[in-house]
Amino acid sequence: MEFLQSKRNTILPYIISCGLIFLTTLFGELVKNKIGPTNIVMFYLLAVVFIAIRWGKGPAITTSIISVLVFDFFLVPPYLTLSVAHIEYIFTFAAFLTVGIVVSTFASKVREQIMQHQTEKLHSALLNSISHDLKTPLVSITGALTALLDKKSNLDAQHIKELLETARGESSRLNRIVNNLLDMTKMESGVLRISSKPCDLRDLIGACLEQLKERIGSREIKIEIPKDSPEICVDFPFMLKALFNIIDNALKYSPDGSPVEIHVNFLQHKAQVKIRDYGIGIPGEDLKRIFEKFYRIERSQNISGTGLGLCISKGIIEAHSGRIFVESVLDKGSTFIVELPLE
Ligand code: ADP
Repeated sequence: MEFLQSKRNTILPYIISCGLIFLTTLFGELVKNKIGPTNIVMFYLLAVVFIAIRWGKGPAITTSIISVLVFDFFLVPPYLTLSVAHIEYIFTFAAFLTVGIVVSTFASKVREQIMQHQTEKLHSALLNSISHDLKTPLVSITGALTALLDKKSNLDAQHIKELLETARGESSRLNRIVNNLLDMTKMESGVLRISSKPCDLRDLIGACLEQLKERIGSREIKIEIPKDSPEICVDFPFMLKALFNIIDNALKYSPDGSPVEIHVNFLQHKAQVKIRDYGIGIPGEDLKRIFEKFYRIERSQNISGTGLGLCISKGIIEAHSGRIFVESVLDKGSTFIVELPLE
């Protein structure tokens, strides 16, 4: 699918270029007796500039060369041959090609600069967001430790316990963010090695909930797993991370009093894990985008997060030949569905 997509993206400029040349030639045919052929050249140049700005140098130079040939064949007497009656047309062709190449080079440089500027803007936005996410727990930890070390503050046992708990909670949050960033880097550089072994989904979910017990607190988690379920073949620590992120989100993006449900089903060739929450839900237009790196929905900005969790979960699940998708109703809740092959 991705391959097809990229192939389409490389062919598309050439198809559009042919289309523009066709339209220009058609127009040229209609007006060639009214305006001189050399004036029609300007319209071909327009097509070259458009292609250069949109797709860069390669397609633009190809457009220039094809334009010259088509122009000569259809619009320069003698018609329907590549030979020319007047020597001056040779200069027109040479000038067209030179202008075409120069314009393409300039236009594609401008395009590269715009793209570089956009990437830089994006990088600094991402850096800002990561620094903010790293700074928040560090400020809390430093605050708690400073209060504990301050001799003047005469803390009682309860207060000391609270400060220590804050420091511990924020440290594990920091740890998770750093781990997510490391996982992301590993995934992107292709170092993520999956080593699958048979395991019980029940154990996997149990381990997730154990790691999340602080976040869960007194919240209700309803679990439904069929008895005598078959084993699935996964990399336990990685799949743990993948499910952890999804269950963590279900808890994070739903109110304290609401339950989170985990249903496991075994279909013919796959295991299906559904994680349902009764929280804020996800707008329709964001359903696909939430799996992108650093993507966060506007309305959940006040809940802390980095926008990496789901992207990592998706990467891990797909590395197991599985898939993840989501169904959601705004303000009613979301169901994340993970499917993993049974063989
Ligand atoms: P984050 O660290 O921001 O939670 P994720 O990659 O885990 O990053 O999620 C991306 C975004 O998808 C979140 O910022 C949130 O807006 C949205 N999202 C994820 N899970 C849920 C959910 N269960 N309910 C509502 N929104 C969710």
